[in-house]
Amino acid sequence: MSASPLIRQLMEALRCLPGVGNKTAQRMAYHLLERDRAGGRQLSRVLVDAMEKIGHCSDCRTLCETTRCALCASGSRDTSLLCVVETPVDVEALEQATGFRGHYFVLMGHLSPLDGIGPEELGLEQLNERFSRGDLDEVILATNPTVEGEATAQYISELARGHRIRVTRIAHGVPMGGELEYIDSSTLSHAFSGRREVNG
Ligand code: ZN
Repeated sequence: MSASPLIRQLMEALRCLPGVGNKTAQRMAYHLLERDRAGGRQLSRVLVDAMEKIGHCSDCRTLCETTRCALCASGSRDTSLLCVVETPVDVEALEQATGFRGHYFVLMGHLSPLDGIGPEELGLEQLNERFSRGDLDEVILATNPTVEGEATAQYISELARGHRIRVTRIAHGVPMGGELEYIDSSTLSHAFSGRREVNG
C-alpha cells in the first residue's frame, strides 16, 4: 500500500516517539485522520506549545515552563534536604511514593563519558554551588542503581563531602540495574526511608 507523501511524513514523524515502530505509527496516523481530527489538532497545538515553552527550572533543573518550578517556588519545603535524581519522572515517582519534604536536584541524565556526558552536562557545577551555600543537612543520592547511576552517585558524594555535608544513598530493595520510574511505590518508599550513609 502506498500512502500519500503527507501521510508518510506523518507516520515518519510519529516514529520519533519511544516504542513506536512502522506498524504503530501507521495505526496512529490513520486513527487520527479517520477518527479523531480534533484530537490530532489538539495534539499538534500542545506539542508545539510544549516544545517551545518548556525549559528547565533555574534551581533544580527539572522541566517546567516557568523560571522556577512549583516545588522550588513553594515556601513549605525543607531547604536543608536535597535529593539528587536523574530525571523529572524520578521526582514524580518519589513525590508519590515517599513523604519527602525537601528539595530536588535533577541531573537530566547520568555520567557517561562515552556519550560525552560529563559533570558539565549534568549541572554539577550548579550543584556544587548549592552545596557551598552551607544550609544543607543531608544530600540524598537517588540516582538509578545502574553502573552509571552508581558512578554518578559516587562523584556527587565526593563533591558533597568536600563541603562536609552528610550524604545518604537509597539502596535497600532497589534491584541493581533497575530504574526508579519502573519500581513500584512501596519498594521505592522502602528504599528511600532505608537510605544509608555513604562512607568515604
Ligand atoms: Zn525546581
